[in-house]
Amino acid sequence: MRFSAATSPATRLTDAAARISQRLGDPGIDIQTLEDEELLGLLADAADTRKALELIVAAASTEVSRRSSRDLGYEGLAQRKGLRTGTALVQQITGLARADVVRAVEAGTELAPVAPVAPVAPVAEGVDAATPAPATSAAWLQRLRDALAAGALSQAQFQAIRAGLGEPPVERYPELDPDFLPQAWGRAVELLLDEAATQAVEDLRNQARVARDRLDPVGVTLRFEERFAARSFRTWTDAQGQRHGHILFDDEAGAWVDALLQAALRPRRGPRFVGADAGDRTRAAESDERTNEQLQYDTLVAVLRTGANADPQQAFGDRQPGVRIIVDSSAITDGDERGAMTLTRVGHCEDGGAAIPAGVVEARLCDSGAVPVFWNTDGRPLDIGRELRLFTRKQRIAIGARDGGCMWPSCAAPISQCEFHHLDHWWEDHGRTDVDDGIPLCRNCHLRLHNQGWRIRRTRDPVTGADTYWLHPPPDPLTGEMVEPTRLVSKSPRRFEAA
Ligand SMILES: [Zn+2]
Ligand SMILES: [Zn+2]
Repeated sequence: MRFSAATSPATRLTDAAARISQRLGDPGIDIQTLEDEELLGLLADAADTRKALELIVAAASTEVSRRSSRDLGYEGLAQRKGLRTGTALVQQITGLARADVVRAVEAGTELAPVAPVAPVAPVAEGVDAATPAPATSAAWLQRLRDALAAGALSQAQFQAIRAGLGEPPVERYPELDPDFLPQAWGRAVELLLDEAATQAVEDLRNQARVARDRLDPVGVTLRFEERFAARSFRTWTDAQGQRHGHILFDDEAGAWVDALLQAALRPRRGPRFVGADAGDRTRAAESDERTNEQLQYDTLVAVLRTGANADPQQAFGDRQPGVRIIVDSSAITDGDERGAMTLTRVGHCEDGGAAIPAGVVEARLCDSGAVPVFWNTDGRPLDIGRELRLFTRKQRIAIGARDGGCMWPSCAAPISQCEFHHLDHWWEDHGRTDVDDGIPLCRNCHLRLHNQGWRIRRTRDPVTGADTYWLHPPPDPLTGEMVEPTRLVSKSPRRFEAA
């Protein structure tokens, strides 16, 4: 790896070191006696020095790894020093933890992708000759690497942006110009580089993910489904008899639980002088000796208890604790060839801005309704329309009595775990609903239906007036052909009664 002379870490190191020794004056100076500005300047110079040193450590560690490749056998650098791996050798010299060495090598590899060393080549000379030139990287990535090499980004900032953005998924969008996404990635990198100076590393990573999700709506659904599939809750008892639990949330349920816990913690965090009884509540919160973890635990257990004790329709029926999702109405299309409304773009959580796949937004529109907000041409919000709420509590009871549980053919979820899917055209009908257009589906089946483009249609017998519901699979992904629908059968015990 070769650094350009102007931005070489060695040059920056010398400069910063010179400033530091000037600030410190004679070696015996006491940091406690420095003026504020001097103190902050010293800290900034020391941080610059560290960034430059980190780069040198990264570059050197990467080179040690490369020269210690397993393929080289006993000829490898680490192996000649009596160690098994390059990482172990770097650890021995630097005193760094293994994870830090791995991270340094990752950063070094980003700056100069490691080329394998041919095992037969003599190592002492000809390393360069044996090294094929790395493929030229995309402009957006090069820009990011340059910013790291020039010290504009720390390694942590670099990795936050790199991991948050990922690679532009060009292969997912064959209809787009192949340069379109890499260019969009380039614009996102410029914005993030600007923001890097003022944002905490965690926020930077989050913003990089927000940018990626905006630009890759298909990936949003794939990533959502991956995390949804990974959802889990397990409990165990340790040797002392204490019960433990470990939860992996899917995005949506995670946001819901966050909202719940935030609400419980708000009196401890929020502004403390608002509202007539706010003072009392704040004092109550101050005298509450529970830790935040204990308060969160108590909140979660209380919600579970309430849910277990209450009539499910009563507890969760028509008013669910809220996570508000924002979606642009221009993303809503009238319907596909099968007549159902679809969303063409992702939405985002009001809190935190995390992207929500179109399918999940559709499922929420079905079950929880919407509030339209109108904008004037200057982009100012003009007006709030009438709330579009879907099935009422009474309608849900009627649908539940008719269908008896999740209507997905192979699913046995009871009605208490169901959401209410709206067949179609909920938007044009402005939320007016008829029980004939509602189908109970458990959360899992409901999300699958919307995320994968399944549809439920209703046919009515002209003579008897009886309704039949059909589950239409998405078109065959290979041939594009329509697949035969499956007839949905009520799960209610009533179906066994003679008509
Ligand atoms: Zn639905
Ligand atoms: Zn189901």
